Amino acid sequence: MKKIDIVISEVGPRDGLQNISAIMPLPAKKIWVSALATAGLREIEVGSFVPARILPQLADTAELVTHAQTITGLTVAVLVPNYQGAENAVRAGVDKITIPFSASETHCLANVNRSHEQMLEEVRKIVELLKTLPARQRPIFEGGISTAFGCTLEGHVPEKKILELATSLMAAGCDEVGLSDTTGYADPAQVRRLVGAVKAEVGNNNLTGLHLHNTRGLGLANALAALDAGITTLDSSLGGLGGCPFAPGASGNIVTEDLVYMLESMGLRTGINLEKLIETRQIVQAALPGETMFGFIPDAGLPIGY
Ligand code: ZN
Repeated sequence: MKKIDIVISEVGPRDGLQNISAIMPLPAKKIWVSALATAGLREIEVGSFVPARILPQLADTAELVTHAQTITGLTVAVLVPNYQGAENAVRAGVDKITIPFSASETHCLANVNRSHEQMLEEVRKIVELLKTLPARQRPIFEGGISTAFGCTLEGHVPEKKILELATSLMAAGCDEVGLSDTTGYADPAQVRRLVGAVKAEVGNNNLTGLHLHNTRGLGLANALAALDAGITTLDSSLGGLGGCPFAPGASGNIVTEDLVYMLESMGLRTGINLEKLIETRQIVQAALPGETMFGFIPDAGLPIGY
């Protein structure tokens, strides 16, 4: 497999689909995931193990994991909100589990009805579960610190709080931590500062990934700042699928096509074939008629000689 500089973790099948009400049929999801892998994606977050009554769009996550696991070389990632979700993820046979842990305790209580201490207890229980697995079958366990750059309920989230949480998550047994700009509040200077501070706190290799949103148009600028700060994995979604519920007309996640274009233009290797990637939009459009897809590159086309 060719060497790459930046891992792009495609979160469309999870973050994208959970933010639209239409349900993409499982056969289309399978075709999409396969096509994304053929275009060169090495990591795909295929779903979330939450009860189907909460997110019916992702009710078939286990089946999609089974399909994705047939693709050689693909890291199959999922989100789990709690221990129950982690059990299901392990049973399905995923490669990577992320538990979203909101740095804003108000947001945490509102979202999952748990305090920080209760969430940490959940993390410890998951670690115990993972320890019972043979090393080869043990998924990577990431503590994903959400609302890390600000919260729609609390506003500013002190950096000290993020550092404390990152330390607690590593102490609880997570393999790594991630930072998530759930609300699209981040700016490039803040990204550089916070990534540097967390890396200094938990170790350079224990924070490698960032989940950015483009709510206020700073997604790519923040991605660039993240690279400067030593981040090597960036989340994004094809066509910015799902949009942003708070900002009509804006994509939710960074658009994968635009991110790949920026990185490859800069001479960084993503391993992704942009033309093939753009072709996968047709699968989504056919399965979700009328759904808006974002992206400058798909609209403007690639420059001559690219
Ligand atoms: Zn997100």
